[in-house]
Amino acid sequence: MDFDSLKVQGTKVNYYYICKRKLWLFSKQITMEHTYDRVLQGKVLHDESYQYKRKEFKLDDLIQLDLIDSQYVGEVKSSRKMNRADRMQLLYYLFYLKERGIIRKGKLHYVKERRVEEVELTPEIEKEVILCLEDIQRILSNPSPPKLEKYPYCTKCAYYHFCFVGELDE
Ligand code: SF4
Repeated sequence: MDFDSLKVQGTKVNYYYICKRKLWLFSKQITMEHTYDRVLQGKVLHDESYQYKRKEFKLDDLIQLDLIDSQYVGEVKSSRKMNRADRMQLLYYLFYLKERGIIRKGKLHYVKERRVEEVELTPEIEKEVILCLEDIQRILSNPSPPKLEKYPYCTKCAYYHFCFVGELDE
């Protein structure tokens, strides 16, 4: 596996598990998130939370870790609604660090629920991360976005109007 040719921003791994179309749109810099209140709210919450112990750490201009100490990498999220995507994003960070010779466990800090969840890399999860990274490359090499699918959370997505403008006009 040539990790350097597969590595991507953590947000892309997160979006891969939320919606592959969202991943594609975001990757093509079709960004609407800066004007979207829910995203803005999330960012403010994210920025104001855990400030007292935040030690941001950047790797390769791709990976931005919210918290890191000698044992754990921490990722701060507003709520558990996208738990699977959050877990895989953090596991990707752990995999990324391991590729650099840094071994850590992970902690997800959920601000609204005031809950902390631990995650740990296993050989099976490493395989899943690699498959995910390969599939991200495949998706992003396509000239057009993946087919539209309706998810329960589409109405809260920054791309909602982009995806459903035809339906809104009907
Ligand atoms: S609105 Fe729905 S289909 Fe469109 S990008 Fe967002 S989650 Fe995906």
